Amino acid sequence: MSVKTFEFTVSTKGGTDIIDITSQVQKIVAGSGMNEGSALVFVPGSTAGITTIEYEPGLLKDYPEFMEKIIPSNIRYHHDDTWHDGNGHSHVRAALQGASFTVPFTNSSLLLGTWQQIILVDFDNRRRNRRIIVQVNGE
Ligand code: ZN
Repeated sequence: MSVKTFEFTVSTKGGTDIIDITSQVQKIVAGSGMNEGSALVFVPGSTAGITTIEYEPGLLKDYPEFMEKIIPSNIRYHHDDTWHDGNGHSHVRAALQGASFTVPFTNSSLLLGTWQQIILVDFDNRRRNRRIIVQVNGE
């Protein structure tokens, strides 16, 4: 078993922007020299998260609408009383979603479903450049 850590950068628009990062992660796994193992995909920061979804136009609207319903952007947050950065909802959404996702692979190929993509979701209220960390564990 060995561990290798890689990273790449993604530009986002913020506002629950959803970016498909599957091809970047697959490229890293293929280039890692490992045949079998798992890839941990992680975003540093407290206003973004990683998960999977079927990356299609309907869900790209449904997911932000769902987040707006359960964690509205137009209500009062104590975070904003303290920091005045207006992104209390972004932090709460990121905490709920989680900052990492682990994907197994064999034959240097991610074991994802056909309609399952790995996504970065940026909940912040402004444009951001996000570092994505991919830590590959395998042999
Ligand atoms: Zn904040």
